[in-house]
Amino acid sequence: MAALPSNSVTINNLDFARKALEIHDTIAVSQFLRLADFLSTDKGALEYRLAGYQDDSNKPSLKLEISGKLHLLCQRCLGPMEYDLDAHATFVIVRDEASIPETEDEADEVDYLVAETHMSVADLIEDEILLSLPLAPKHEIEACDAASKLNELKKPGPFAELQKLKLQGRKTDESQD
Ligand SMILES: [Zn+2]
Repeated sequence: MAALPSNSVTINNLDFARKALEIHDTIAVSQFLRLADFLSTDKGALEYRLAGYQDDSNKPSLKLEISGKLHLLCQRCLGPMEYDLDAHATFVIVRDEASIPETEDEADEVDYLVAETHMSVADLIEDEILLSLPLAPKHEIEACDAASKLNELKKPGPFAELQKLKLQGRKTDESQD
């Protein structure tokens, strides 16, 4: 049998929580196929920490932290854009779908997971990344290639003309370093 790649790590999530187990590892961005559409490149790796614990009312829970750099696509100029990912989530593990409360209290930021003996850690991480990404990531306006083009479309008044010159000046400065 071939060696399993690290994206195939599965846990018994209920057991993991009750025994307060912990995984601290890195995972290649290229393993996240659903994320691929949002990326300019899938190079690099993210660091994550998954820890099991019992919450204040003794409910089996998981805490997930993911951090690292993603290379997204700017939704204004479609150019590459570096994004510092820093996602945190906590999950309470419930026996079945029916045990998930009807209305999740949005204020407490707790999600629910159904108990599974072979829950994919990579899938959990990818879900969390997708939830934490901005809906339409964009460069800061001064750094965006589309900004000068957008300004040309507007009918420029004297002040806009000045603004345009300032923007172009800043852009040139940045591209020189
Ligand atoms: Zn841009």
